[in-house]
Amino acid sequence: MKNYAFPPRAPVAVAIAGGARFFPVHRVYCVGRNYAAHAAEMGDDRKEPPFFFSKPADAVVGDEAAVPVPPRTADFHHEVELVVALAGGGSSIPPQRALEAVFGYAVGIDYTRRDLQHAARSSGRPWDTSKGFDRSAAVGDIRPAPGSAASGGRIWLSVNGRLRQQADLADMTWTVPEIIAELSTLFELAAGDLIFTGTPAGVGPLAAGDRIEAGIDGIGTLRNVII
Ligand code: MN
Repeated sequence: MKNYAFPPRAPVAVAIAGGARFFPVHRVYCVGRNYAAHAAEMGDDRKEPPFFFSKPADAVVGDEAAVPVPPRTADFHHEVELVVALAGGGSSIPPQRALEAVFGYAVGIDYTRRDLQHAARSSGRPWDTSKGFDRSAAVGDIRPAPGSAASGGRIWLSVNGRLRQQADLADMTWTVPEIIAELSTLFELAAGDLIFTGTPAGVGPLAAGDRIEAGIDGIGTLRNVII
């Protein structure tokens, strides 16, 4: 082992449903604009294809986490999303082989500083401060589903018991195999990668004290409290 100047951090890990094992996180990728109705509410041209951004691996928090309202925002938003967890990877993966890389799926929330995102968008600046801040990537317990597609099922999010987002995974512009194939033309994917696949319509603001519950039929649920 190398003589490190200080002890390296342990890997960030997400609980795996139904057991005592954990999924060690490598990278966190995200898809933007993957549901037409959300593109419309953001004022985007719905003919433009989805795109990618990323978050630091150590931005991940789990089920039942307390998520602080981040500093430097007056418009802190939730985005419920299907998260794909990879057990394999590679570069330029053909779509018909993309599902071989799938370990399983989870419910995720892409927390967003919406005001900073709009400012970055209009000035052509990067999204790191609007998307990649501390504790911005909530991921529920991962349900193992090796090689499966997650091509349909209700996805929803409620705040304090009131439904805010609801759609079906079948509404996604890019399917899971298309996302993996496309992303692998830009980055070498690897075991431990998480991919947030975009949010449906209904995103909205959060405040301290809010209780969030989210779910995807057949995959699981995720609860966070905003502090
Ligand atoms: Mn998102």
